[in-house]
Amino acid sequence: MSIAIITHHDCLLHDMAPGHPERPERLLAIDRHLVHRGYQYELSFHDAPLASREQLERVHDAAFVRALFEQAPREGVIALDPDTTMTPFTLNAARRAAGAVVEAVELLREGEAVRCFCSVRPPGHHATRRRAMGFCFFNNVAVGAAHALARGWSRVAICDFDVHHGNGTEDIFGGDPRVLLLSSFQHPFYPHTGAGSEYDNVVATPLPAGSDGPTFRAAVERDWLPRLEAFRPELVFVSAGFDAHRDDPLGGLDLLEDDYRWVTRRLLEVARRHADGRIVSTLEGGYDLEALGASVCAHIDALID
Ligand SMILES: [Zn+2]
Repeated sequence: MSIAIITHHDCLLHDMAPGHPERPERLLAIDRHLVHRGYQYELSFHDAPLASREQLERVHDAAFVRALFEQAPREGVIALDPDTTMTPFTLNAARRAAGAVVEAVELLREGEAVRCFCSVRPPGHHATRRRAMGFCFFNNVAVGAAHALARGWSRVAICDFDVHHGNGTEDIFGGDPRVLLLSSFQHPFYPHTGAGSEYDNVVATPLPAGSDGPTFRAAVERDWLPRLEAFRPELVFVSAGFDAHRDDPLGGLDLLEDDYRWVTRRLLEVARRHADGRIVSTLEGGYDLEALGASVCAHIDALID
């Protein structure tokens, strides 16, 4: 099975500060690992388009979108929160990152791909309807899921295994019966949300610091798989953050590459049963370059299957 990789050079130009963990080298590390694995015959590469304002405003307040477009500095940086700053290159990178997930949906719709991985940054799952935070500007996976709903799909699942709770995605889709949102995350931990969701369409799987692969797998089998089976998603999105890896400098969980391979296989089984195998995965966190590259390869290994 060929995998569509959607990315763009603009995503490398967004560089918030020297030493910032969410750095351009993350995408280069993924590229290096993919080349090293010899995947060139299994991957097709696609340029991410710029997400349009209309696409962004399906999930974000128009005033928030307008503010990001208007605040984009010509030089220097503007801090939106202590660790989330806009440079002259940020707006285009953020629009490409969201546009990549839209493009993935279009590739599925046109029958050009069945499984896609958006190798993009900045990440998106902390961006709420009205706020950029936690390295995120636009909520990439939400923009893509909203595009799928606008294109006529009626049930989409979003599975988020980043070490941080995807508070932005929950803010956007909490209470929307067309979307099932499943999220595993370290708790208590940034952004200090997510445990005990008030929404019926949200499945929260908080994990204490130090949780390892067997604990994560048991939680996914207990919390996620039955809900996914009952929901019968027509399309499966993945907020693929790899910062729950043991070597990650930000996260405090203890997952390994094989755990990402395992969870991807489980999600693919669901997608095969209900969604003709359709998966759109997009990069969220993952800050140790070696662990990130190896984990993305394990994820793509499972998607190729
Ligand atoms: Zn994260």
